[in-house]
Amino acid sequence: MSQSNCVFCKIIRGELPAKKVAETANLLAFRDINPQAPVHILIVPKKHFQNLAEVGESEKEILGEIILLAKKIAQQEGIEKTGYRVLTNTGANAGQIVPHLHFHLLGGKKLGGIG
Ligand code: 5GP
Ligand code: ZN
Repeated sequence: MSQSNCVFCKIIRGELPAKKVAETANLLAFRDINPQAPVHILIVPKKHFQNLAEVGESEKEILGEIILLAKKIAQQEGIEKTGYRVLTNTGANAGQIVPHLHFHLLGGKKLGGIG
């Protein structure tokens, strides 16, 4: 299931360019276009979900895959020892801009506090 006007679905379909860092059967990871840290990578399911509010029990496995891929990419990027953050913005109050579920992997510098 993909959505014609969704920017991340377009990246997944190859209609928009992206600096890909990892790909699995279910996930794509690529560098954020406006990085907030030396390492700023987005990990997205290939299947379109608006955000965490839209996923349920049946997405248990893919959610686990996302977190484990974040960990693997952190190792690849050499930030596993210095530390990193994995987060997902859900809805307006969190400042979610792109309505396709994505997890940010941030690291490579001392990050500020949350919120
Ligand atoms: P959020 O929805 O969690 O606030 O953040 C969306 C993130 O997607 C932002 O960090 C923004 O820079 C990034 N982004 C938006 N459009 C694109 C795009 O076309 N390509 C890439 N690589 N990142 C994007
Ligand atoms: Zn989408």
